Amino acid sequence: MSQFWSPAVRSLTPYVPGEQPVERLIKLNTNENPYPPAPGVGQALRDYATDHLRLYPDPTSRALRQTLADTFDVDLEQTFVGNGSDEVLAFAFQAFFCHGAPLDAPAITYSFYPVYAKLYGIELRQHPLNAQWEVDLDALTASAARSGVILANPNAPTGHAHSLENIEALLKRVPDRVVLVDEAYVDFGADSAVALIKRYPNLLVTGTFSKSRSLAGLRLGYAIGSPALIEGLQRVKDSFNSFPVDSLASVLGIEALKDQAHFDACRNHVIATRERTRERLEALGFEVLPSKANFVLTQHPDFQGAQLFAGLRERGILVRHFNTDILGNFLRITIGTDDEMDSLMEALESICR
Ligand code: PMP
Repeated sequence: MSQFWSPAVRSLTPYVPGEQPVERLIKLNTNENPYPPAPGVGQALRDYATDHLRLYPDPTSRALRQTLADTFDVDLEQTFVGNGSDEVLAFAFQAFFCHGAPLDAPAITYSFYPVYAKLYGIELRQHPLNAQWEVDLDALTASAARSGVILANPNAPTGHAHSLENIEALLKRVPDRVVLVDEAYVDFGADSAVALIKRYPNLLVTGTFSKSRSLAGLRLGYAIGSPALIEGLQRVKDSFNSFPVDSLASVLGIEALKDQAHFDACRNHVIATRERTRERLEALGFEVLPSKANFVLTQHPDFQGAQLFAGLRERGILVRHFNTDILGNFLRITIGTDDEMDSLMEALESICR
């Protein structure tokens, strides 16, 4: 606490990201991709003419957005890019949810949403998950006045994904406010709501290059929505930073989007490893929530989450443990390579034995 801080800064509760360790650990704590980005990304990096760095980047990121538009089969005017999807989410909160009414969100979801809500003075109305640990879409829309609805699909950290039919039913119930569907993990087996964009002008879908495109270090995220929503995001962006996406990130992002074969191979590998990991965890007595993401949320009836976390850490494996009442007994385990998951299972076997 400092006398120099404004009251607003004093009252913030900043988001705490998963640890980025300096030691060599098997890192299964922040849902990064275990496989490298598309080969074209490395080639573009080697070919990049550093003289380009003299100049400011294109403030509209047109080339990257056009590639995104081609990838998702939407128009350029329906795309927005930013410095990681966290930034895109922050812009969206400011652009769409500052209406003076509560924002509806699940009680268990991406823990950055409450942080942004507080930053912008938005009341967050959080609704418990149902008995199956699924986002309760009916509860999300049960109250009347709202500034919008936000959910992650697949949800984090549970991994459950709703069908497009369910998302569409939600959209029908909230025609007058923005429904933001955060699809950070959608490429690991869920259906994207981008297919609904043309019919629902209030739908904003966000996504990231950090997970399925293996570019967490580059910081690239995007939004797809109706031109009016995209313009809203641009207005906030251009009141904050004209150039959130640098020239190099644009070039590398384009290469990542262009390589569909690499993208499919990596995500299918992660999905296969996830299913195998789930079976092995269950064989060891763990309860594993069904996941359409590149992680699983799991708990063991005989061991506490903190105990398992510490045991794994001692054995050089880092997973995510949330120290909360509801999630305290769980571990969220990112799906790594097959070798990494073998090491995880060996460590868990030795702890649980
Ligand atoms: N949404 C969800 C649900 C996430 O888990 C994450 C990653 N922590 C993000 C958005 C942000 O991803 P990034 O800023 O790397 O694009």
